[in-house]
Amino acid sequence: MEKRIIIRDILNKCLDGGIPTREEAIALVQVELDSEEFYSLCYVANKLSREHFGNKGDVVAQIGLDYAPCSRNCGFCSFGRDAGVVKERLEWDTDTVVKAALAMVEAGANGIYLMTTADYPFKKFIAIAAAVREAVEDDIPLIANIGDFNYEQAQKLKEVGFSAVYHALRLREGTDTGIPRTKREETIANARAVGLAVQVCLEPVGPEHTPEEMVEQMFWAREIGATFNGAMKRTAVPGTRLAGLGEISFRELARLIAVTRLVMGDRATAHCTHEPNLPALMAGANLIWAEAGPNPRDVLPDTAAGRGQSVRKCQEILFEAGYDLRQGATPSAYPAG
Ligand code: SF4
Repeated sequence: MEKRIIIRDILNKCLDGGIPTREEAIALVQVELDSEEFYSLCYVANKLSREHFGNKGDVVAQIGLDYAPCSRNCGFCSFGRDAGVVKERLEWDTDTVVKAALAMVEAGANGIYLMTTADYPFKKFIAIAAAVREAVEDDIPLIANIGDFNYEQAQKLKEVGFSAVYHALRLREGTDTGIPRTKREETIANARAVGLAVQVCLEPVGPEHTPEEMVEQMFWAREIGATFNGAMKRTAVPGTRLAGLGEISFRELARLIAVTRLVMGDRATAHCTHEPNLPALMAGANLIWAEAGPNPRDVLPDTAAGRGQSVRKCQEILFEAGYDLRQGATPSAYPAG
């Protein structure tokens, strides 16, 4: 009974413009899935998002450039070298990437992400990005989703026309991934220092993650000034080190989406979920991802033929959730004013 009253008080505070404390967020992450509190939590996050984002839904398009074993060996990723899931090395050439980007923009994507493994040569990435920037109209933002980079490389990203990077601190970074947490944070600082927006997400969530560590990550995202946060559940790619731990459900993901949304408060310029799903869009998410090319959650060289969704499919999902499709750039690709 006491817990029920506390949850209601927290939600009322959020409706009045406040955000939960860490302790309150930990309580919210644990509300029972079939309870009145769960639906109240989703109601509040959904209401705040609809109002704050003007009921606009964003579809962003991500294109992977390389399908290759990666030396960082993240335990959830099909490219992790030691997992041996991906053995060959395939790369999308410039023409293929440009054509994919143009097709996704033509279909209505609100931003283009170019993604590589951590071992992909930076110079080659910049060359392909320059071709994409030239081909795609200026008002569609480019966002880089690549390995760690130094200050000079951050400047290069800016010069070639990126306005943002997606660079999450993954859950159990340094333990479940082959990258020290400090390295990821240095990269984020480099991006911010040159004026790139930084986007993150609570990811990749599995059943083993505790409320405390997830809430800590939510507040970290708020404190570094991320332009969006959200939540992504881990896909149990067969053969990867963490696949045996299983997956959370979309309902559990929706609960995390809602709490993450409340923690971000008015600082969020979009709220992301992955993979695209309706429960998250009923709980505060308004941004979903279409994908093509190699992808760490897939075993096929082109995820458009596998797990990846098309821009059109994402638009249909946003429609089902009652969102109006945004025209033009997602605001999350630019540093907050
Ligand atoms: S998640 Fe990125 S850094 Fe980690 S193994 Fe996969 S491609 Fe490499």
